[in-house]
Amino acid sequence: MRRKDIKARYDAMMETAPYQGYDGRGKGIDVYVCNKCGHKFYTVYRDRGVTPFTMACEGCGKGTALHKYTVPTREFDGRTHVVHVWVRPTFKEMMTLPKSYREHILNGGLVLWDAILEASTIKGRVKTVTKNVRMVLVGIYCNFKYRISKQNNNIKDEE
Ligand SMILES: [Zn+2]
Repeated sequence: MRRKDIKARYDAMMETAPYQGYDGRGKGIDVYVCNKCGHKFYTVYRDRGVTPFTMACEGCGKGTALHKYTVPTREFDGRTHVVHVWVRPTFKEMMTLPKSYREHILNGGLVLWDAILEASTIKGRVKTVTKNVRMVLVGIYCNFKYRISKQNNNIKDEE
C-alpha cells in the first residue's frame, strides 16, 4: 500500500471512529492479568476505539495478559500503579509504528501511548531511556513508566 492510499484510509477512519467507535472512556481502569506469572497491567482509555483483550506479558515475557476486570477510577490508586493509556495515533505517529499495528489502527483500533513514545524516541536515536511521567488523567494522577530499548524494536523507516 502506498503512503497516499494509507493516508486516504486513515482519513476515512477518522470520519467515524472517533465518534462511533467503542467508548471505554470514564469506565475505570482495565486490569490485564498474566496467565503464567500473575503480573498485572493497568490501562485506561483516552480515545474511543477498540483494544485487544490479550497482549504479551511485560512481566515474564512468556505469558499472555488477559483483560480480567475493571476497577472504578475512584477506587484506583494511581500513585502506586503504573497506568498505560490507549490512544489513537495521528497519521504521522502511525507511520512511525511497526507495520504490524497498521491494519488494527486503520480499523479504528487504539494503541498504547507507550508504543508511540517508544517508536518516536527510537527514531530520534535514543538507545535506552527510562522515564517516569506523571500527569492528570480522567481526574486522577497516573504514573507512566516506559523503557526504551533499541534491541527490542524492529521498526523500519517508511520513507
Ligand atoms: Zn507474565
